[in-house]
Parts: sequence; structure tokens; C-alpha cells
Amino acid sequence: MNYGGRSLEVLENVSVDSLVKLAGVIDGANEIALEGHELRAMIAQLNFLRLKPEAEQEKIFSGLAAKHLPALADQFRTDPSALSPSMTLMNTVSHTPYFARFLKTPGGQGIAALHVKHMAQDPDVGALDTDRIGEVTQFLSTLLLLQGMADVEQADKMALMHKLRLWVQVYRGQFAAGTSSRCIASLTSDPSMGAYMMQVKALLEEPLYKCGGTNCARATSTGEGQLLQCSRCKSAVHCSEEHQKQAWRSHKANCFQVTF
Ligand SMILES: [Zn+2]
Ligand SMILES: [Zn+2]
Repeated sequence: MNYGGRSLEVLENVSVDSLVKLAGVIDGANEIALEGHELRAMIAQLNFLRLKPEAEQEKIFSGLAAKHLPALADQFRTDPSALSPSMTLMNTVSHTPYFARFLKTPGGQGIAALHVKHMAQDPDVGALDTDRIGEVTQFLSTLLLLQGMADVEQADKMALMHKLRLWVQVYRGQFAAGTSSRCIASLTSDPSMGAYMMQVKALLEEPLYKCGGTNCARATSTGEGQLLQCSRCKSAVHCSEEHQKQAWRSHKANCFQVTF
């Protein structure tokens, strides 16, 4: 693919900055890709990044989440498309503890309900291909797990359920069908999926309430305040200074100053 005669360079220079520039969250996309090619270049960079060692990927995902989630959420709120650059980047970092914590802050409120609305009301959502349907439904299933559906409007829910049931049929056996099914289970509070979903939610949120020390089970179930919170990332906790020191060796690679 061509991004203005700089295709290889575009791919190789993937960084936190390049991704948010291409997403339009900060200025500077024109340094990287030709006008109109930004989104394609961003997706190409993400695909290239996924070929790198996991530690390298996670460093970029953590750095991006720590610094840019508030701005990504702002952009997400102003773009009514089901599939937007900010949605793609938020989905990419949705497994990090930064994202789980961000959704609990004032700046992260209502994201699940808004994604339901975008997906229910965007007339172009039906024209997306199976991979993109997988992406928008994967993000929704994560959001519904982490944030619940307290703010979801009934009319949006009904309109979206219709689409989700269709995707389960059309994409049977594909990724998009599985993620659509998980969204339906959340939206209908399907009791047969309840235990599994609680488990996934606990796993995603675990770093926020469980000590990061090796084999340490100390945790707080009542909030972030009771264990020592890492002052830099606010997305890891420890029961003691000893365990904080012990965990630092692995934690430091993904520990970034948060802006929220
Ligand atoms: Zn501990
Ligand atoms: Zn930290």
C-alpha cells in the first residue's frame, strides 16, 4: 500500500505519537500520511505493531492509554460513527488496567451507552465487513462488561439487538458472531453467561484491586484506596512497600504517568 511514497517508513515508525496523530487526536497526521490516508495508515501501523514482541506492543498500548484516553474519549463523543479512529484505538487498549480505571473516572462515564447509541443509529454500520463488525462488537462487549448498561437507552438497545442477532446468523463461526453473542448476553443479562462474564470482568480489573506482588492474594474489593496505589500509573496496587519493590521489575515497563 502507498501512503504518499513513504509506505515502509509509515509502518516502521509506529509509536504512541504516530497513532494518536493518525487518529486525529493530536495534530501532525500530515507528517506521516497523505490527507485521506490517515485511517488506513493507522490500521496498517496497528497491524505491523501486532507482529512485534508482546512486550513492545504492551509498552505502546500502556503509554497510549495513560496519556491519551481522555482525548480519545472526547473525540469518541463527537463522532457518531460506529467505527471511528478513536474507537479503534480505545478498543486496542481496552485490555489494559488503564482503560478499566478510566471508565470509573468522571471522564470515562457513559462510553458504553454511547457506543450502543452509535451502533444502533449509524446507518453505515450494516455496510462494514466482518472484521470491522468484529471490532465494534468486541469493543462493545468489553464496555458492557466493565461499565454495565445503566445508561443505555431502551430504544437504542432494541435497535441494536436486532442488528446483533442478524450478525450472529450471518457471521456464524466467525469472530464477529462470538463478539455479537457476548453483547447480546450482556444486554439481556443472560444468566447462563453470568459467571463467565464476571470472571472476565474480574480479570480485566484485577490489577486495580489485587496486589501485584508475586503470588500475593491480598486485595481490596471495596475500591482503590486500601492498598498502596502506584502513584505514577494509578493502575496497579500493592499490599506493602516490599511487594511494590518486588513487582517493580515487571511493572516498570508498562508504568506511565496518567493524565486522569
Ligand atoms: Zn502483596
Ligand atoms: Zn505504576
